[in-house]
Amino acid sequence: MGKSVKQSNASEAKRWDNAMQANYGTPSISLVKGKGLEVVDSDGKKYLDLLGGIATNLLGHNHPKIATAITKQAKELSHVSNFYSHNQGLALAERLIDICGDKSARVFFCNSGAEANEAALKLSRLTGRSRVVATLGAFHGRTIGALSLTGQPAKRDPFKPLIKRIVHVPYGDAKALARKVNSRTAMVIIEPIMGEAGVVMPPSGYLKAAREICDKTGALLVLDCVQTGMGRTGTWFGFEHEGITPDVITIAKGLGGGLPLGAMIALGKSASLFQAGMHGTTFGGNPIACAAANVVINEIKRNSYLALNASKGALIRNLISPINGVIEARGRGLLIGIKVRDGKAKVLTSELAKRGFLVNATSEEIIRIAPAYIITEKQIISFARAFADACEEVYDG
Ligand SMILES: *Cc1c(COP(=O)(O)O)cnc(C)c1O
Repeated sequence: MGKSVKQSNASEAKRWDNAMQANYGTPSISLVKGKGLEVVDSDGKKYLDLLGGIATNLLGHNHPKIATAITKQAKELSHVSNFYSHNQGLALAERLIDICGDKSARVFFCNSGAEANEAALKLSRLTGRSRVVATLGAFHGRTIGALSLTGQPAKRDPFKPLIKRIVHVPYGDAKALARKVNSRTAMVIIEPIMGEAGVVMPPSGYLKAAREICDKTGALLVLDCVQTGMGRTGTWFGFEHEGITPDVITIAKGLGGGLPLGAMIALGKSASLFQAGMHGTTFGGNPIACAAANVVINEIKRNSYLALNASKGALIRNLISPINGVIEARGRGLLIGIKVRDGKAKVLTSELAKRGFLVNATSEEIIRIAPAYIITEKQIISFARAFADACEEVYDG
C-alpha cells in the first residue's frame, strides 16, 4: 500500500483513479519537484511551467526565501487560530493596506478565492440589501455562494438551486450593468479581466463606469482580483489602470506564493460592516501562509516586478502574435490568453507538453499562460520558439 517504489506518469495515473474522485479528470503528468520555472515529472522529463500553479507561484517553485521563511515560521509557530494575534498576519495586513494605498482598508484573511468572494457576499448582506449583479462568463469560485456569483452555466447547472436574487449581465457592457443595478442592489462583482473565461478584457472605461453606477445606487463594487491581483497585470491590482477605488477587493491565488491564502479587503464604509462574531475561519491567515505572502510582497517590491511584468508580458504577446495559427495574444502583464485557429487549443497544449512547456487551455480556442514573475527573457524566447514549432506541427504538418 501507499507510495510505490518506482514512480511513472502512467502508474501515478492509475493510482489517481483508484484514490481520487473524478472531478478533475485524470492528470497525465505527475510532478515530483520544481525549481524556479522548471518542474520535473515522474518519468524524469523536465518542463518549463508557464501556468505557475494557475497564476499562483509568483516567485516560481521552491523559492529559497519562501522556503526559508516558512521553515523558520513552522519551527516558531505554525498555527494559532484567530483567537490570537500573530506578527506574520498583522505585518501582512499592514502591507496589503499599504499597497491598497488607502488607510481605511481593513483585511479579512481566508484560504482561497472562493472563500474571499463568499466573505464579500456575506459582507454585502450587511448593507441591508440582498440583490447582486454579476457578469456572464465570470468565475468566482466553486462553493455555493461563489458559484452563485459565477456566470458559467456548465459549472452552475448541476448544482441548482443556487442563491436567489443574483443576476448576470454581459461582461464589459456598462449599459447592461446600469439597467440591472438599482437601490436594492447590495453588490456588483466584476473580474478586472476574466481569467478562467480565457483572459477576456473589458473595454477600457468599463470599471470606471461600474464605479459610477455603484456610486449612484449605493451598491458595493466588489472587484474579484483573485487572478489579476498581486502584481500579475503590472499593477498591484488588476483595476488600477482605470484609476478607481472599489469598495471590496478579493485576492487569493498569487498572494501566498504557492501557499493557500486569500483575503477580502474592504475599504471606506464597508470596512466596518463585519462586527465581532459575524464571520470567521479556523485556518485563514495562518502564520506559515502569511510568512510566505510577506516574502512575496517584499520580493515584488525589491525586484520591481510590477514594471517588469508589464514589459515581459508585452514581449510574450509580441513574440506569439505573429505565429501562424494564432488569432491574437491578449492580456495585461503576465496574464495572457492566446486565441488559436480551428479549436486547436487543447491539441496545442499537449504538443507544448511534449516539447517541455506547460500551459493551460481554458477552452478549445484559448491557451492561457500566467508564469511566475521570475521568468527570464531567455525562457520567454524558448517558449515562443516552442509555440511556433507546435503550431507548425498542428497547422502545417
Ligand atoms: C481562481 C479564481 C477564484 C477561485 O479561487 P479558489 O482559490 O479556486 O477558490 C475566484 N475568482 C477568480 C477570478 C479566480 O480566478
